[in-house]
Amino acid sequence: MPFPTDTPALRREIIETARALPIKGLTKGTSGNVSARTADGFLVTPSGIPYADLTEELIVAMDLAGTYSGDTLPSSEWRMHMDIYKAKPEAGAVVHCHSPRATALACLNRGIPAFHYMVALAGGDRIDCAPYATFGTAALSEVMIAALGDRSACLLANHGQIACGATLKKALGVADGVEELADQYLSALSVGEPDILGETEMTEILRKFKNYGKQPDEMDAAHGAAFDLPVRRA
Ligand code: 13P
Ligand code: ZN
Repeated sequence: MPFPTDTPALRREIIETARALPIKGLTKGTSGNVSARTADGFLVTPSGIPYADLTEELIVAMDLAGTYSGDTLPSSEWRMHMDIYKAKPEAGAVVHCHSPRATALACLNRGIPAFHYMVALAGGDRIDCAPYATFGTAALSEVMIAALGDRSACLLANHGQIACGATLKKALGVADGVEELADQYLSALSVGEPDILGETEMTEILRKFKNYGKQPDEMDAAHGAAFDLPVRRA
């Protein structure tokens, strides 16, 4: 997949994605960070600078060897971003945030099982929680990569969540979806122990998700339709 070059427009898109985090209620203050893969490595938000103060020049260019250029320090979580790009060739963007409900669940050291079929939005039958490790360390990145597995999101114990996707829009959408699932799961847990969907059903859901949201001419025939298609009148 060709990844974009480092342009002011891409830097602007990273800033807009980062600013969407507090607007969507996914983070407060300077918590969280956003990056996008480029042809040469990746661009990441700087460390500890309020989202409102971000400019294109403050976005930091890094390579996959972990070196950076410019006068501004990259996010303290640069290694989590870099390790996702190394582990997942399809990842084009990463969003890390301390969204309140996902963080609450992560503080209980609980991941999100298939209590709702939408856990499939992260590409699997569950979303795991990585054990606690200090922010901004290689140890955190290591447990994060293990918890991600072949999925596109995980929780980080006593910290928050991290999500990736092919584009900034998709990575932000996954983070938003994880927060909604965490909210629903915590609500259900406050009353009782939710029913968990079985492996057969989740395999079927993951198949249906391959073509969900696509028009007939865009569907991959190998996976069948996402639902029973009605007959189209001539
Ligand atoms: P940065 O400001 O360094 O990106 O850190 C925020 C954060 O969420 C650390 O985990
Ligand atoms: Zn964090």
